[in-house]
Amino acid sequence: MYKGLLKHPKVVLTADRTLMSPYRGISLASFFGCAPAIDPNRSHNTLLYKLLRNQVTPRILFDFICNPISHHNGIADYAPYGLRKVEASLVRDGYSTEDVVVAHPDYVEKFIGPETEVVGTYEMDPLGMGPVTMTFTYGRKQMSYDEFYNRDLHMKINRAKEKNGSKAKVIAGASGTWQYNYDPAKIEEYGLYGIVEGDLGGIGPEIDGAGASFFDALINNELDTANPFKKNPFKVEIKEFERSGNMYHGRFIHYWNEPKVDEIPTIINPSMHGMIEVMRGCGRGCKFCDVTLRPLRYYPVEKVVKEIEINMKYGGLKNAWVHSDDIFVYGLNPRTTKNMQPNREALEELFSGIMSTGIEHTNPTHGTLAGAIADERLIPNISKIIRASPDNMIGIQCGFETGSIRLIGKYADRKLSPFKPSEWHWVVKNGIKTLNENYWVPAFTLIMGLDNDETVEDSWETIELIHSLETEQPDSKFTTTPLTFVPIGLLEKSDFFDIGNTMDAPKLGVMYKTWQHNFKYGIQKFMHKVGRDNPVKNVFFAGLARTLGGVPLGAMERYARKRGPEHERVIEKIKANYW
Ligand code: SF4
Repeated sequence: MYKGLLKHPKVVLTADRTLMSPYRGISLASFFGCAPAIDPNRSHNTLLYKLLRNQVTPRILFDFICNPISHHNGIADYAPYGLRKVEASLVRDGYSTEDVVVAHPDYVEKFIGPETEVVGTYEMDPLGMGPVTMTFTYGRKQMSYDEFYNRDLHMKINRAKEKNGSKAKVIAGASGTWQYNYDPAKIEEYGLYGIVEGDLGGIGPEIDGAGASFFDALINNELDTANPFKKNPFKVEIKEFERSGNMYHGRFIHYWNEPKVDEIPTIINPSMHGMIEVMRGCGRGCKFCDVTLRPLRYYPVEKVVKEIEINMKYGGLKNAWVHSDDIFVYGLNPRTTKNMQPNREALEELFSGIMSTGIEHTNPTHGTLAGAIADERLIPNISKIIRASPDNMIGIQCGFETGSIRLIGKYADRKLSPFKPSEWHWVVKNGIKTLNENYWVPAFTLIMGLDNDETVEDSWETIELIHSLETEQPDSKFTTTPLTFVPIGLLEKSDFFDIGNTMDAPKLGVMYKTWQHNFKYGIQKFMHKVGRDNPVKNVFFAGLARTLGGVPLGAMERYARKRGPEHERVIEKIKANYW
């Protein structure tokens, strides 16, 4: 039982360590959760095994970077934004603050007891099948830290239930729950009562709109079985899976209503990294993305300001990480706005409102390069408002996707609007130039094996585009992260890109080129930032940067040697001509 309260809370919400870490104040480092943790197949006769056993990224290093969130008596001081929304929706709809707790993963067992009805876990990449993770673990041949710590959390929950005599239903939610369809044995292993799934593949349902009605239905056993005769906003589907001669079952709960903006609750406690939301949905229609399937809605400035004030008042936060799918779409109507022309006035008003709260730093999470340069006054004006400077650089994640004009035109033509697919290389180069000149640094993601349709020529076009950026604009600042194709959005019927078995030589080349680039800019820079306040630490982290950068490049070189001369030739060609 936790201090200060007389009984265990009815609803315990939590998330694993990789989602409950401030990552030493560097929000983009949250990608480290995708790093490989365990190699179950490592030979016991190797020196590496003698040194590290099965560990791939040493746990001591990972745990240092992914430091645990602070807490008070086991109650997390900060939590993932989505979890905060669920908490807020319950309190808004009549649950008392003593009935709902957001628990620190290391102390979750204190809160689970006989009175606990539901344990809700927030899961973004529970089985390490997200695109970044699949890339780092060679298609799940190794276990990622995301999966490692999610498993660890479920084991803790199960132990606590057993020890404390709890019959609580464990329910997994958020955008990664689709992964249980691909490894249903885990449903049983983790003892999951249910999995909240969106109606459209990987897209997470907006359960915060449903609030208490969802938890009431859970608690009252209304979701135990599928009942086609009762009208219910939650559709229960009992799925049956056969895997290697074994049968597995899972209760998947679907919810597909999209709340209107005023039905979306406002957070009541601080979110991780100071995250707040300004919009849901994106009208650009990229075929490989599930966000675009949601209707587009914008928060009014007052609602955004309220959430920042919560983070400042109760979390002492001085920054606002603005969740957006394409921030440059904010305030426009994709059906009527010609060529997706950004609504500069709306964006200026939004960022002025954000800065009026007194925060010191803000940056949007995502934006498109085309949107950034569609109006030449847009980035300079926003930069002025948010006081971007060499000491206040603005990070933004942008989809680079591919250097192939053919692929971008086929799968994401509106991502480029108002420009044409044939102008893609120009858009990338000018986008980076404009962003960098105004103190923004894009973190690019690329998709490897897009819809299993990427040809040798497509891969080389990507390598050449990155290289031409490095040579034509040598001072450019950007990072590149290759992701393997995962079938979601309009391509949910396609197959995963199987990086472990089907990566041809040029695709390995794309991966190698992106890491070469990151090594030069991203990793060294990150480590310098971590160690900047202490010269000894600085030397240590510079060494660490060399090791971290060298490890994936070395691993890819070894992989190429194993695969044969064609793969080796591509690596040699990149080293000789594209470095
Ligand atoms: S621009 Fe980004 S968020 Fe919008 S549809 Fe394309 S990939 Fe999805």
